[in-house]
Amino acid sequence: MTETATVRPGLGAPPPDDVLVEVRNLRTYFKVMDGTVPAVDDISFSLGRGQTLGIVGESGSGKSVTALTIMRLLDIPPAEIGAGSEIWFDGKEVLSMPEKEMRHLRGNEMAMIFQEPLTSLNPVFTVGDQIAEQVKLHMKVKDREARDRAIEMLRLVGIPSPERRAKQYPHELSGGMRQRVVIGMALSCEPKLLIADEPTTALDVTVQAQILELLKAIQQRTGAALMLITHDLGVVAEMVDNVVVMYAGQIVEQGTVEEVLVEPRMPYTMGLIESIPTVEKRGGRLSAIQGVVPSPFHLPPACRFEPRCPYRWETCREVAPELYPSGPSGRVARCHLHLAEATARRDAAIAQHQQNLTMGRRLSGAPDRIGNA
Ligand code: SF4
Repeated sequence: MTETATVRPGLGAPPPDDVLVEVRNLRTYFKVMDGTVPAVDDISFSLGRGQTLGIVGESGSGKSVTALTIMRLLDIPPAEIGAGSEIWFDGKEVLSMPEKEMRHLRGNEMAMIFQEPLTSLNPVFTVGDQIAEQVKLHMKVKDREARDRAIEMLRLVGIPSPERRAKQYPHELSGGMRQRVVIGMALSCEPKLLIADEPTTALDVTVQAQILELLKAIQQRTGAALMLITHDLGVVAEMVDNVVVMYAGQIVEQGTVEEVLVEPRMPYTMGLIESIPTVEKRGGRLSAIQGVVPSPFHLPPACRFEPRCPYRWETCREVAPELYPSGPSGRVARCHLHLAEATARRDAAIAQHQQNLTMGRRLSGAPDRIGNA
């Protein structure tokens, strides 16, 4: 976002103090030659201090645009934020914040880790210099102190011989080590919020596990809140407290990780869980959600998942589902199966889901929490 924002009239009240991030009715659009793309369409969620929230969905669901909007890293235009959108961070409304204040917030109080560490690191500077530069910029300290801090961060993220590694360039490190450097850089100013966008997708499986362990350990040590964006439900099961499932720009299910992964109440989430490849399924046919995510230019008129949903009926083609309550403690699902008159359909869908899970419910190493009902 490049323009200076002004305080907008009609803002709601700030969230309670234990809530670090609250997103309210966020709409992010892109104006392109072919029309307007509703990348994020009226989503609301919150993240408590020190907690972990997972944002899950296929490519094109709006996960990364949500993160970039929170960080105000989108160029406006072509991006546009819809009227009535609010993003609260630590008691301040981010979308109304002047750019200068926002620059201070980014890196100091909120930081982001991207999927591919090579795109976050500058190839012509040593990794130590890059971390030190970030520290100098945000913490206003002298060169020596910034260098020491860079080495301390490399040590914190588990890089052996940090004094030596600090003098190396990104191409001299392995993919796992580069991601550790990026995490170290993000943590160097002790942010209150860490947004990790598919932080392990570009890494080998063994390195993935190490990076996730590292994120968990650092979170416990620093008390930072973590927003983890991923398409990997195994990662979600391991790492998060609450889950937001997104599809075609909307939130389609939201609740605690136990609620959503063990007893999903929206067919898209059911399909994602059934699609997890497991050791027990080896040699058998892998489940998949039929069809593809709809083009944002041709969204289905009512339920956006309707063309792919095995439980659809006429209402799903005619009426857009709202987020219906689907359990205690604010749990919601965007699905007409939660209409009172659809109880029999809902019970049949849940029974079918359970049946689909009879074989191989767990990713090795991921989960007592997935699909063991
Ligand atoms: S509203 Fe209908 S089509 Fe959409 S997810 Fe629910 S059952 Fe499927």
